[in-house]
Amino acid sequence: MRPISLFNTLTRKVEPVVPVAPGSVSLYTCGPTVYNYAHIGNLRTFLFQDLLKRTFRGAGYEVRHCMNITDVEDKIIRDSQGDLPADAPNEARHAAMGALTDRFTTIFIEDLETLRIQRADFLPRATAYIPQMIRLVQDLEARGLAYAREGSVYYRIAGLPQYGCLAHLDREGMQAGASVDADEYERDSVTDFVLWKAAKPGEPWWDSPWGPGRPGWHIECSAMGMELLGERVDIHSGGVDLIFPHHENEIAQSEGCLGHKWVNHWVHGEFLMVEGQKMAKSLGNFFTLRDLVAKGIDPISLRYAIQSNHYRKVLNFSFEGLRAADNSLKRIRAFRKRMEGEGQAGGGPWKEAVDPAARLTEAREAFWNALADDLNTPEALAAIFTLISDLNAQDDHAALTRDERDAVLAFLDEADGVFAAWPHEKASLDAEVEALVEARRAAKAAKDWPAADRVRDELKAMGIVLEDRKDGTVGWRRA
Ligand code: AMP
Ligand code: ZN
Repeated sequence: MRPISLFNTLTRKVEPVVPVAPGSVSLYTCGPTVYNYAHIGNLRTFLFQDLLKRTFRGAGYEVRHCMNITDVEDKIIRDSQGDLPADAPNEARHAAMGALTDRFTTIFIEDLETLRIQRADFLPRATAYIPQMIRLVQDLEARGLAYAREGSVYYRIAGLPQYGCLAHLDREGMQAGASVDADEYERDSVTDFVLWKAAKPGEPWWDSPWGPGRPGWHIECSAMGMELLGERVDIHSGGVDLIFPHHENEIAQSEGCLGHKWVNHWVHGEFLMVEGQKMAKSLGNFFTLRDLVAKGIDPISLRYAIQSNHYRKVLNFSFEGLRAADNSLKRIRAFRKRMEGEGQAGGGPWKEAVDPAARLTEAREAFWNALADDLNTPEALAAIFTLISDLNAQDDHAALTRDERDAVLAFLDEADGVFAAWPHEKASLDAEVEALVEARRAAKAAKDWPAADRVRDELKAMGIVLEDRKDGTVGWRRA
């Protein structure tokens, strides 16, 4: 297992990640608020977290990943309740909220799949954890860190000495005593924040010891994170906009209740920008993944364009950047094809003879050293491109042997485990077939015969023959 270091927002240093349970990393990433399509700025953050996870897995660690789905929040309520009459019952309000969040959760998961982002091991929906949230707020109240007022409950930030440790706030300047109800606010208005919100007319609510209400946004992640990953978490991550107040408040809630440090490493990804401004729904300057696909962009080119930049550097979105990504990928894929085939050396002079095996070892070391040093993807990819240019030149002159070519291919597969952009074509086709066979099985189980037939026809068009086995499972082979 290679040691991996990441920049820690808490200490503002690049530090080795030392998992609490040796060899197994617990990772919590704040998931989407599912009221609309994710834009590619949001997806930049989820791609960076996929890189982080794949780097640990590739380096030999087990990763236990929890990503929540925020399915109750101010904006969700704003967008889901508009069509209901003022006197609509609570059940109807919940149903309307659930219809909106179900729809966009499905769409979000499809986007992750399109971008080859690995599924989290836990994908909890906030609304399934209301009892845990209520217990956490009660616990904070019992410890004198929370107070109720008119059916809402607020966190008393003056009660926690370390409040401000993540955002590096100046404690002197903090306005203890004032309080806010909004989930999102600016750093210059540091105040007591809301844990539980009293229901307002027109909002869905849950019963609570403080009357009907709903959780604040920050308490959701503390409750789900502690429930699913435990009292000591290795890494917690989000975009830089979550440092304050969201993550600062998560620390206050969890550590206020636990009485000890909750998360060792806080890791934040920088923004995707458009013409100097953060890409954001509120600014209207965004693209969704579907917008790009409709323009003929390969989602994997977007994946590569994002992953090839360092996660802590602001990245400006441009179509030129996507074209450059496309060209880089073509180069890697062409090299892969060349290594899959047999060499046909032309002879003639060349600058410098290289020992392919030694060059490969060097490249592999450089690749992993770069990733282990705060996910330095530009350097990791540079190691691959240097290898490509050296071995292409060598292969032109003195063809690499089959064994040497296979060793190169094994390294390309290993690197693809992190970048997921130049898979072995047969392997990726097999995965596609497996997914379709599974989809057909699910359709049959649900007695959705038209869907099952559609999938069967699709497989047939791909030249796949299905074979019903005695044990009831379905096998396949190429015709
Ligand atoms: P949300 O769905 O609004 O809760 O955001 C989901 C994730 O996207 C959070 O981790 C945000 O920090 C992140 N995010 C929002 N806007 C951007 C952006 N322009 N670039 C990168 N990440 C972003
Ligand atoms: Zn969160």
